Amino acid sequence: MNYNRLALFGGPPIRTTLYPPNITTSHEELEVVVDVLKRGVLSGFEGSNNELFYGGPCVRAMEEEWADYFGVNHAIAVNSATSGLFAAVGAAGVGPGDEVITTPWTMTATATAIVVNHAVPVFADIERDTFCLSPEDVEKKVTPRTKAIIPVHIFGHPADMDPIMEIAKKYGLIVIEDAAQSPGAKYKGRFTSTIGDMGVHSLNANKIIQCGEGGVVMTNDHELALKLRLIRNHGEAVIATGMKAPSLVNMVGYNYRMNEIEAALSSIQLKKLKKFQIERTKLAEYLSEKLSFFKGLIMPGTRSGCDHTYYRFAIRMDPDVIPINAKTFVKALNAEGLDWLADYIPLNQYPLYGKQVAFGEKGCPFKCPHYNGSPDYSMDTLPNVRHNLKYSFSSENIRPPMTIEDMDLMVSGFEKLFYNLNELAQYERTGH
Ligand SMILES: *Cc1c(COP(=O)(O)O)cnc(C)c1O
Repeated sequence: MNYNRLALFGGPPIRTTLYPPNITTSHEELEVVVDVLKRGVLSGFEGSNNELFYGGPCVRAMEEEWADYFGVNHAIAVNSATSGLFAAVGAAGVGPGDEVITTPWTMTATATAIVVNHAVPVFADIERDTFCLSPEDVEKKVTPRTKAIIPVHIFGHPADMDPIMEIAKKYGLIVIEDAAQSPGAKYKGRFTSTIGDMGVHSLNANKIIQCGEGGVVMTNDHELALKLRLIRNHGEAVIATGMKAPSLVNMVGYNYRMNEIEAALSSIQLKKLKKFQIERTKLAEYLSEKLSFFKGLIMPGTRSGCDHTYYRFAIRMDPDVIPINAKTFVKALNAEGLDWLADYIPLNQYPLYGKQVAFGEKGCPFKCPHYNGSPDYSMDTLPNVRHNLKYSFSSENIRPPMTIEDMDLMVSGFEKLFYNLNELAQYERTGH
């Protein structure tokens, strides 16, 4: 037991060094990047109706490897998961007047992808234990305007895909999985990102594997794949130069193309995915085991038949046992130098939604004349979001190159807080 005074009240902090950055690359990546530079062709894309529509050799090789690994017909490389989500919602045919149901407990791009396609996000509640979209609440929020659902495998834990796919089938909706945080996580034997109509991975520098900035969209559907490739690469120009497109809908054209260096990196990173998954799981399971000794802390659970890739490590608190809320707890943890997060803002509370201003000054898409709904961005129908905001906190640092010794230091910090819990409760009540 650590009987020292809390750092929050002037005692010595537990950890005095910063966490190491998320380094996932080594000499293998150096070699392939040098190869690309030696060839000198840094991107092989062209936005017209010829072979170059499909990108350079590294992009095509990378797409084939990702499709093979995940067992899908098409993997489409893009320059971020944000672009991938924008393209996927576009390929789904979503447009003005439509609604798309998603979770407010995610990174902003999940919902922005709906708005940029001129549709309106509808936020459904989450499951308390996994923070993932609640299928029950999704079904309650289906309207005649609903066109798609975007479940997010938040923190690297699979959303409950079976009931979500059933709801989609019942109402004729497209499902786009946001798998930015969950590459390699499986739901009942199937990789996340391969269960819905489309699934999107992120390769940004914070993610489990990365190429700096990048993303990959997975699909088994040939027509969706073609639409995704057109949206990725100036579809309007490609169609004008003779490519047969399924339709002109949402083919306005962007540049979401991945370059050759990023593609070469993504090939190597995929080979390391399993290793990173194992290392993260080892750290997370060690920490879970140690922290579960503290009464009232609820460790991240795993849905039966699924695995967790621990992009973030989220802890919930039992308010009947622990006399303080997550913000106070984390304030004390962070004073100890432990860097946890408890001030998450759910997307429904962003000014974009609260004030319903996105494009132009007329409130589009929320007040677009084609839209006849009235979105509710209050917390009223999101009780589990409200609960978890108050009684949960998370860390993105339970990952290599952190070590078991780092986890032990973490545990010492929690021990110190628990020893001083009454003092913290008084601090929360009185401010000192
Ligand atoms: C990181 C992330 C994104 C966006 O990924 P980028 O590649 O940075 O655009 C989207 N959704 C979720 C859930 C994410 O964590």
